[in-house]
Amino acid sequence: MRWRVAGRLVAGAVVLGLLAFGFRELVSARGFQLFGDLTERVETSEKVVALTFDDGPHPASTAEVLDVLREKRVPGTFFLIGRDLAAHPELGRRIAGEGHEIGNHTYSHERMVFVTPGFVAGEIERTDSLIRATGFRGEITVRPPHGKKFLALPHYLAEHHRRTITWDVEPNSSAAVDADPARIVEHVVRHVRPGSIVLLHPHYPSGRNSRDSLGPMIDRLRDQGYRFTTVSGLG
Ligand SMILES: [Zn+2]
Repeated sequence: MRWRVAGRLVAGAVVLGLLAFGFRELVSARGFQLFGDLTERVETSEKVVALTFDDGPHPASTAEVLDVLREKRVPGTFFLIGRDLAAHPELGRRIAGEGHEIGNHTYSHERMVFVTPGFVAGEIERTDSLIRATGFRGEITVRPPHGKKFLALPHYLAEHHRRTITWDVEPNSSAAVDADPARIVEHVVRHVRPGSIVLLHPHYPSGRNSRDSLGPMIDRLRDQGYRFTTVSGLG
């Protein structure tokens, strides 16, 4: 019932949104959604940056990422897929146990466009339970899969006072950049600003170049005076 009323209330906003942004831009926009709190970067003058890792956990990649972060003493934020976490709970426990932050990247990693409120609730709540089972006790922020969100997901998140986290630096989105670890490092160093949220896809075999870029990226950012924090640590 509540959903139906809310649906009518936002109908006007949806129409305006479609006109102003075009549908694709609206569902994919990093810095805009119809409801709730969305963060793509935090406004600060401090040289602080959050490295965020999407997808997984996965046995072919997660341990390697964690080893680099441990060696460099850098806290990261892992937006995990519930289905992957259910398959590899020991990796989730290691992430939490080493002091990293865990965010919710939905259970199935479906595109959250034209999905029902019930589907969204299941996707978020099943994944929350799995994240709590790792031992992680902090705020669980949410990152929509593929950055896509429309109506049901942002509505649910706003109702439940959950923060949506996107990013302002995304080296993997350019095929030319993603093809070479050195170019990934260059892209990140060139685009990071105080308060930036960097999106990396280091998991699975396809994340090889991102994994190789991680150590040098941390060193270069440190050389420039940056320190590292989690998404929640940004404020
Ligand atoms: Zn993803």
